[in-house]
This record gives sequence, structure tokens and C-alpha cells, in this order.
Amino acid sequence: MTNFQPGVEESVKTHYDVIVVGAGMGGIYAVHRFRKDGLSVLGIEAAPEVGGVWYHNAYPGARVDVESYDYCYFFDQDLYSDWTWTERYAAQPEILRYLNYAADRLQVKPSILFNTWVNGSQWDPDTHRYVVTTDTGKTFTARYLVMATGNLSKPRKPDFAGIDEFKGEWHQSAHWPRTPVQIAGRRVAVIGTGSSGVQAATAIAKEASELYVFQRTANYSVPAHNREADQERHRRYSSKTETIWKELTESGGGIILPPVLGKAGDYTEEQQQQLLEERWAFGGQALLGLFADQGTDQAVNDIVSNFVRGKVRQMVKDPETAEKLMPTSYPIGVRRLCIDTGFYDIFNQENVTLVDVNADPITRITPTGIQAGDNHYEVDLIVFALGFEAFTGALDNANIRNEHGQQPSDLWKRGPRTYLGLMTAGFPNLFTLTGPLSPSVLANMNAANVQHVDFIADMISHMNERGLTRVEPTEEGQQAWMDHAASLAKPLLRLAHDNYMVHVNKDDGSRVFVPYSGGFNKYVDQCNEVVAAGYRGFAFDAVRDEAGELTEPVASAHAQ
Ligand code: FAD
Ligand code: NAP
Repeated sequence: MTNFQPGVEESVKTHYDVIVVGAGMGGIYAVHRFRKDGLSVLGIEAAPEVGGVWYHNAYPGARVDVESYDYCYFFDQDLYSDWTWTERYAAQPEILRYLNYAADRLQVKPSILFNTWVNGSQWDPDTHRYVVTTDTGKTFTARYLVMATGNLSKPRKPDFAGIDEFKGEWHQSAHWPRTPVQIAGRRVAVIGTGSSGVQAATAIAKEASELYVFQRTANYSVPAHNREADQERHRRYSSKTETIWKELTESGGGIILPPVLGKAGDYTEEQQQQLLEERWAFGGQALLGLFADQGTDQAVNDIVSNFVRGKVRQMVKDPETAEKLMPTSYPIGVRRLCIDTGFYDIFNQENVTLVDVNADPITRITPTGIQAGDNHYEVDLIVFALGFEAFTGALDNANIRNEHGQQPSDLWKRGPRTYLGLMTAGFPNLFTLTGPLSPSVLANMNAANVQHVDFIADMISHMNERGLTRVEPTEEGQQAWMDHAASLAKPLLRLAHDNYMVHVNKDDGSRVFVPYSGGFNKYVDQCNEVVAAGYRGFAFDAVRDEAGELTEPVASAHAQ
């Protein structure tokens, strides 16, 4: 039985120029771009269809927190203009439809093997190829291995005691089933109040007979002010996609947002409050880019954090619940800001209860519900929104081994070691899209994926033109990048607060900020400089015979 989508050629070759693992936003574009460059490409995807995050996270309320008209492909004007979004912040079903639309238009599905897990990838130093194995028993070789596996794609498993005894239904937000899950009239628990939990709880509150929201750390959430998409903006953007793409790459987050307005001290207290109100009214991520010093100066951050706490106090009628919902353990912007469509309002509903897991830790799941402290909550359905094994989870799953039998994470025990987030010294020809020490979760990840793929595709062309077959960062190049990333992160309030973006070495307390924090614009500049300097920091080589001659002709490292 073939695992390709219907209508696909049955003949699967065994060697490819490039294997792309994952068919989310990054993988779709990667397959398209490499194929356009004349390379032979195989995509491999565990799910039965494209979409990645937007396939797996089909939980109620899932939607984008970057405006729809920024969170899509710009590289093809017609592809852009022929799709209209219905909402300012599109919901998961619409994004999944969009990704299918893009994949169909680009005709990438025939190049992707679906329902197939990559469970091993071994570098062969003699042939400069990876041997890629799959759970279906198929084995392939590829010169280049591109991991489009996502940095938020391996959800944390719920490991609560007693979970196996639960007689009701439970699901992970990031592995939401394709068959409908009944919410209406049921008693539901949502555990976790990050972006996923906030969105799920907001939607579930509309239908559930009872909803218990289990919160361990209160997070800042700001309104999306979602509404119909601005079709005028679509028309404007459609006529100049290249210009808009340039604007995205010149922005700090790969998103077009109101600008940073200088330091807080440039304004009176009254003006500061006025500006905060304007950003609140604008909605979404705009609040984070208001004062230039809010990410580095605790006192300035307090102005913004207190403003949001004040909003929570206004919105939530019960003062005790409002108090619990107010984040106090970290400054705003240090974790990903939640963007909501009425989260705080649900706590004014009769059917919604906030459970403070800090005061009453969850001790076990019982056959009929959840025991937290002295209280037992009877529920029919539990939704776990516990976050992800970010950055390394999916890479570890693919079991990538270098010639010494190591995986990337073996070398990352004290924090990730990468060059540009795209490659790791010790792992030739292995590329990681939105990898650690790239802007990753601090940027519009669609834009980041496209930029990365273009960089890699250009590098492969550079190599093919020269008969080169092996590339790896030099230790010096990689160290320089890591030092640069660390120096940018050092003054940030972010570095001092634990969450999935910070790697902490328990023995000496040293901390590594995992995303590149210099901004998408600065990152793009750095990549361009590396290329202009002849791929500074990378070492190239070619497969040679015993006489030292190239074994593959120039400009045809292509598949046989
Ligand atoms: P993914 O979409 O994660 O795709 C990876 C694919 O690889 C998956 O389909 C997976 O099945 C497959 N895969 C993994 N391992 C293997 C393997 N070993 N073998 C075969 N296949 C494998 N970012 C934003 O910029 N804005 C947002 O609003 C936003 N919202 C988000 C909402 C949610 C709920 C989540 C979880 C993330 C969100 N993100 C957002 C981040 C999101 O990860 C990226 O925007 C983007 O969708 C990631 O695309 P990707 O192609 O890099 O990876
Ligand atoms: P997350 O931000 O890591 O949140 C996980 C939540 O689960 C936290 O509230 C965490 O509490 C809680 N938790 C974990 N283990 C727990 C336990 N044992 N008991 C009780 N609570 C527990 O994960 P996420 O919400 O899935 O978001 C991850 C990232 O995905 C976001 O940062 C964002 O980049 C992206 N995302 C974006 C959107 C969007 O709006 N478009 C939506 C979803 C996800 P603690 O905080 O105390 O650890």
C-alpha cells in the first residue's frame, strides 16, 4: 500500500538529493523550493496530511496569534492574492484549509510520503549521505536532511498518577482527535493555561455544563480583538508581496505591527497610560513592542505588567478569582504572551471555576475526575494543554546519528549549540528549520521557515555549482554565533525566568536563552552577511576517490 496521497506516482526512489521531514508550513515550502531548484526531494510526514501544528492542534478555540495576512506565504504573488482570510486571526480549520490550498497549488503532496515516521537517520561519512529509516520499513538515502519537524511538535505527555484509571475521555490539545469530541453538556477540565489552555478554555466555556480551569502559573493574556479580516489590506498586500515580504524581514518579529515608541521615560505617566490603552485597543502582540526598554528594565516592565493586571481586575468580577488570575511570578513578555478572545470574561460565568494548582496541587486522576488538594473535581472530559518538549523533542524522535553515534541533543546537554539555528557542528548536511538559536518562537514562524529554506536552498546551489557534497559549521563559526546570541540575551529580563525558552544548567545555574533574541531583522542581516562573506563559518568538502579527485561531477549532486 502506498502512503502517498491519492494520485501519486507509485514508484518511490531510494535516493534523493534532499529529504524533508515534516509537512507543516516549513516542510511544504521546503519541498516546493528544493524541487523548483531541480533537486530530487522526498517529504516524509507522520500525519496523514499536511499542516503540522495546524493539523495536530485541532482543539476547540485554536487560532493564530499573528494576524492572518502576515501568517502566510509571500513568495508567490498569485498564491497570496488568490486566498482570502475570513478572520483577522484565523482559526485552526481555516489555517489547515489554507495549507492544503498552498500544498495543492504548489503540487507538493505527490512528493510527500504520509503516515510515515522517520525513526532513524544515520550519516555515512564515506558517501556524504544520510540513511533514513522509517516505521513502515522503507529506507532512503539523501545527501541533505532537512528537519522541518517543528520546535513545538512533541507535546508533553500527561503523567499524572491514576490517569489510566480515568473512566471519562481525555485528550491532549496537541493531539486532538479528528472525530468530534462532545463538549456540550459535559463537565470538562482544562489543565494548563499557556496559549493553548487559554484558547481551549475560552471556547469550551461556551458549551460545557461545568468547566474547571487548572492553573499553575498565571499568564498574561491580552485581547486579540478578532474580527473580520481586512480585505483592503489583502488587496494592498496582494499587489506588492515582494515589498511586504521585505518589510517582514526588516521587522523584529516578522510581523507588521505598530512601531516601538521609544523609552518609557520619554513620556509622562499619563501619556504612558494613554499609549498602553491604545495598544490594548489595537490588540494582540502590539503591547509587547511599545517601550524600547520594557524587556530589559524591570521598572518599565512593571508599568506594562501592572496595566494588564489592572485590566484583569476590571474584567473579572470576583476579586479572589481576579487575584489568582493576575500574573505575579514573572514580567510581561518573558513568556509568550497569550492572545485571547474573551479568556478573562469566562470567569464571570456560573459554569466556570478556576482551580489554583499551586494552592491545591493535582495529586492524582481518579476514575471520575481530578483530585487537587482536598478537593475532588468530577469531570467527563480532561483536556491536557501541558506544552511541548520544545526544540529537541521532535529531533530526538527522529534519532539522527552522526558518524560517532551521537544525536544533536547529546551535544546540547548544556544548552543548544548551533550555527544560525540551522546547523550543528558535528552533524554534516543536517539542517534544522526554526532551530535553537534562530528567532524561532520569537518570530512569525512562517516567515522564519521560508527564510531558512531559502538560505539552505541557496547554499545547496552554491555547493552543487562547485561539486561540493558536505557542509558543516566550523567550531569557531558556531561558537561566534553562540557568543553573539548570548550577548544579546544577557540584558533581557527573559533570561532570568524559567520556561521552555530558557535552558538551565542545574549544576552551576548557568542559563542559555534558546531563541535568537536579536530580532528577525537582525537575524536576516546576519544570514545575508554570512553568505556575502562566502558562507563564513561553514566548512565544505566533497566526496573524493583515493586519488583525491571529486567523485561527483560539478552541478550534478542530484539523485541517480
Ligand atoms: P510543524 O507545524 O510543527 O510541523 C512539523 C511536522 O513534522 C508535523 O506535522 C509532524 O507530524 C512532523 N514530524 C515530526 N517528527 C517527525 C518524524 N520523526 N517523522 C515524520 N514526521 C515528523 N507560530 C506563529 O508564528 N504564530 C502563531 O500564531 C502560532 N500559533 C501556534 C499555535 C499552536 C497551537 C502551536 C502549537 C504553535 C503555534 N505557532 C505559532 C508555532 C508553530 O509551531 C509555527 O508557526 C509553525 O506552524 C510551525 O511549522 P513547522 O512546519 O515548522 O512545524
Ligand atoms: P505552554 O505555554 O508551555 O503552557 C503549558 C501549560 O501547562 C502551563 O500553564 C504550565 O504551567 C501547565 N502545566 C504543565 N505541566 C503541568 C502540570 N504537571 N500541572 C499543572 N499544569 C501544568 O504550552 P502551550 O500553551 O501549548 O503553548 C506553547 C507555545 O505554543 C506558545 O508559547 C506559543 O508559541 C505556541 N502557541 C500559540 C498559540 C496561539 O495563540 N496562536 C496557541 C497555542 C500555542 P507552568 O506555566 O506552571 O509550567
